[in-house]
Amino acid sequence: MDKYDVAVIGAGVTGCAVAMYLCRSEVSVIVLEKEEDVCSGTSKANSGIVHAGYDARPGTLKARMNVRGSKLIEELSETLDFPYRNNGSLVLCFDEAGMPRLKELYDRGIKNGVDGIEILTGEQVRQKESAVSDEVIAALWAPTAGIVCPFGMTAAFAENAAANGAQFRFLEEVTGIVRDGEGGFVIRTDRGEFFARNVVNAAGVYADRFHNMMRSQKISITPRRGEYVLLDKQAGDLVSSTVFQLPGPYGKGVLVTPTVHGNLLVGPNAEDIEDKEDTTTTSEGMEDIKTKALRSVPGIPYNLTITSFAGLRAHGQDYDFILGEAEENPGFFEAAAISSPGLSSAPAIGEYIAGLVVSRNGYKPKTDYIGTRKGFTDVSRLSAEERSRLIREHPEYGRIVCRCENVTEGQILEAIRRTPGARSLDGIKRRVRQGMGRCQSGFCTPAAMKILSDELGIPMEKITKNRPGSELLRGDTDGVS
Ligand SMILES: Cc1cc2nc3c(=O)[nH]c(=O)nc-3n(C[C@H](O)[C@H](O)[C@H](O)COP(=O)(O)OP(=O)(O)OC[C@H]3O[C@@H](n4cnc5c(N)ncnc54)[C@H](O)[C@@H]3O)c2cc1C
Repeated sequence: MDKYDVAVIGAGVTGCAVAMYLCRSEVSVIVLEKEEDVCSGTSKANSGIVHAGYDARPGTLKARMNVRGSKLIEELSETLDFPYRNNGSLVLCFDEAGMPRLKELYDRGIKNGVDGIEILTGEQVRQKESAVSDEVIAALWAPTAGIVCPFGMTAAFAENAAANGAQFRFLEEVTGIVRDGEGGFVIRTDRGEFFARNVVNAAGVYADRFHNMMRSQKISITPRRGEYVLLDKQAGDLVSSTVFQLPGPYGKGVLVTPTVHGNLLVGPNAEDIEDKEDTTTTSEGMEDIKTKALRSVPGIPYNLTITSFAGLRAHGQDYDFILGEAEENPGFFEAAAISSPGLSSAPAIGEYIAGLVVSRNGYKPKTDYIGTRKGFTDVSRLSAEERSRLIREHPEYGRIVCRCENVTEGQILEAIRRTPGARSLDGIKRRVRQGMGRCQSGFCTPAAMKILSDELGIPMEKITKNRPGSELLRGDTDGVS
């Protein structure tokens, strides 16, 4: 049986952040993920906002992790080279009745240590964002808020962890954890068994399953679905900051925001559901978010919509994140109930949980730790000179595969050759944006499949969109009349 110091369950943004911080010490780490890639759960489908930290209740782990996490994300986006932009956020207030709630958010922000927040008048808001509704009478401005590519950040954490020794096992679903006589744990998966001295539960909406195996006080995690519409880049500069409405009992409400890649994102709503895999979108949901968002920004050009999607928040029965070591099962650590702002908090959670594991076991800092990583090449952002130099040296960067996003064969090969690298069409799409544009992969899928097939040495019929069972081709039609 393979033995590790730490097994992390789940390769979402939380698990990858934990692995990355663990690998700053002399620790052997394995990350077990049931899907075929990193960032395949909630981390792939959210608003991509790095919240400033005024929303979380003061004194909670959420508040602490959010404020620390947002600072870390800005720093890490430099050292690990992933897309992030500090665009600031506004929470709009439409009438006098909303002012006490706006003031409450401001006070929370001050208590949580959020820098630079202020309440603006309606006029000041419209000077900043001319597309915002005339109905707005005031807003909370948070200059430290930002936008990030959730996949780009998670991939960066995973690659940095791998560069520092972490191993990743995909399509490996953890089915059980039992205490071992050696003072560690045997982790059973659908494909085998591992021994680990410590376990970190970062299983997203499934974290209650492992929590309830190892802890006396049981929890349940409800998937709280949020739906979105994504608009073409033509609409991407309608607003430059992230525009929220006052939050309600189910969360932060519907927002309108540019994405870090230049699209416009509208959503999400919030609906508690039972199925932890149900990320379908509904026409009622779409109508609901579209109508609500028009109250903030009346001119949203919905005719430029290119796709819709949904994500599932891991909503625990209590307000806060569950972070720490199980008293009744020392060595079992968890980051459970990581609902919003889990993306913003991820590096702080990683730093915190890794710190607990390292200090419990007395692991030493790694002397040859690699602190930087080069992001994916984005040919469309290179200057003409840089582009021609790259193409001269590597002609595959001159062959465009995805015309909407200008993604080249060279970028797709890069996505596949990274560690951990893309093994499916979605893996390529999320890393280098092939198929993310206006045509939503209508034109470039066959070319991407061919590159994946040649590079991995597997037949076209075995190429998947994501998990097994999502193969696109069913056989050869040659000779069939
Ligand atoms: C609609 C919506 C909007 C949001 N917007 C924001 C935002 O703007 N800003 C923000 O800060 N946060 C936001 N969030 C929250 C944020 O997305 C999450 O908190 C964060 O992504 C959680 O990451 P995670 O790694 O804990 O979970 P996941 O990303 O779900 O990762 C858990 C992983 O564990 C794997 N797994 C589960 N069971 C097993 C098993 N048995 N064996 C092996 N692997 C397993 C899963 O496949 C998955 O990959 C939003 C969430 C939603 C749904």
